[in-house]
Amino acid sequence: MSFDSRDPYDAAALYDMWLNCSRCPTTFDFEPGGNIDLDYYHRIGQQARRDRWAVLPARSQGSELIFTVLCPDCALRFGVQGFEGRLDGAEPVIDQICEAMLKVS
Ligand SMILES: [Zn+2]
Repeated sequence: MSFDSRDPYDAAALYDMWLNCSRCPTTFDFEPGGNIDLDYYHRIGQQARRDRWAVLPARSQGSELIFTVLCPDCALRFGVQGFEGRLDGAEPVIDQICEAMLKVS
């Protein structure tokens, strides 16, 4: 498995650079060093899923995709679960970032 722009966890990791809880100061324990490439975001995204972080994609009014990210504690507190489906349709912003990253790598 490699980076999947339709996977909300991979997409959120890429879009937000890494995952920060939106309700408390918890930051996902990202890996310092190493190559910052699509595999890196994929690893972060999938690790966050295994650790039960919640990623909630939503469309803003300008129909830009935004992600609400909750750490496992907050997800439990608010009783929400991560979005386990796949993002519908191409997300232009994320595809653009992917393309740009593939070009430089
Ligand atoms: Zn939190």
